[in-house]
Amino acid sequence: MTAPIALFDVKAQQALIRPELDRRIAAVLDSGRFINGPEVAELEGMLARFAGCAHAVGVSSGTDALQIAMMAEGVGPGHAVFLPAFTYTATAEVPLVLGATPVFVDVQAETFNIDIADLERRIALVRREGRLRPRAVVGVDLFGLPADWRAIEAICAAEQMFALDDAAQAFGASLHGQRLGRWGHAAALSFYPTKTLGAYGDAGALLTDDADRAELYRMLRTHGEGKTRYEVERTGMNGRIDTLQATILCAKLTLFDTELAQRRRIGAAYDAALAGSVGVQVAPEGAENACGLYTIRLPDAAARARVQAALGAAGIGSGIYYPKPLHHQPAYAAAHAGSIGGNGPPPLPVSEALAGQVLSLPMHPYMSEDDARRAAGVVLTNL
Ligand SMILES: *Cc1c(COP(=O)(O)O)cnc(C)c1O
Repeated sequence: MTAPIALFDVKAQQALIRPELDRRIAAVLDSGRFINGPEVAELEGMLARFAGCAHAVGVSSGTDALQIAMMAEGVGPGHAVFLPAFTYTATAEVPLVLGATPVFVDVQAETFNIDIADLERRIALVRREGRLRPRAVVGVDLFGLPADWRAIEAICAAEQMFALDDAAQAFGASLHGQRLGRWGHAAALSFYPTKTLGAYGDAGALLTDDADRAELYRMLRTHGEGKTRYEVERTGMNGRIDTLQATILCAKLTLFDTELAQRRRIGAAYDAALAGSVGVQVAPEGAENACGLYTIRLPDAAARARVQAALGAAGIGSGIYYPKPLHHQPAYAAAHAGSIGGNGPPPLPVSEALAGQVLSLPMHPYMSEDDARRAAGVVLTNL
């Protein structure tokens, strides 16, 4: 029996930095500064330097990063927020929580990222109808692959909309030589444990080059408090990052470049074994994938079930991200139906097809390229 291969491994890394983790955690315990300790600013400096952007603001999760960014723009009732239908639920829940209307956009079959032609069509439909004001586009860099940010930025500039990069799955990716964090007006990161840079609990960050936005983000993560404590300038929230998570992330960032390189080697091994036989996510010119998840597209749901069962029998983990496009989720169906009136919103055929066909294979920096080839072999013999 060969060794099992897990879909994720959030523990192997600890062995490499355990003394540093223990030292850092003990220092926070000794200091008692569990909120707003100096390690928060230390992490923010490291994140900004890594991404090459002017400001990083640590927050409590990727979802809260999205929410703080939209609150800062005043996104709310009467506003349309355009986002892909094929993504994690958090991208869509935030505009709804703020009273805005999510408008689901289809994705491209090759990249699984937002389809620019469909985005333009839906913005035009909302404008023609005149009921909602197009206010923001949330581009998602699904599974680590950057969306078409040049196009999204151009559309948002022309339409005077806010461009928010949901880079929750893609920290470390770059596009045209520029890391995510510098695309759009701001980028939201998640440090959920299985993301490319994962904490040991919930955490997130906002990256931006805009000093005014960064200042607002800091205000909003602390209940909208102004320059002096207990002077409330804006409606905010409790969206701070814990000092403990910040210090853990500082320790983990020292490994991040090495881990990214290994993720990319594994992605390349999968591509070499699988491209041409099954659908794989294709990086457009200039895009460097952070390889958060390696996701293939099988011919149909029956083939996917067969491959997934065979992987399971071989001790190889897999997962379905995502089995349902968001406009089919009970919580969002009504918002979708009401987002564009008239004859109803146009269909989202690629998102619907992908939900029935995608399968994610093991992807983490502590597996080998041979592991990837073994998983790919099981896929190929069970198509
Ligand atoms: C994980 C994720 C989020 C939310 O991040 P949390 O830290 O879990 O709140 C948002 N968007 C996408 C695309 C994600 O994958």
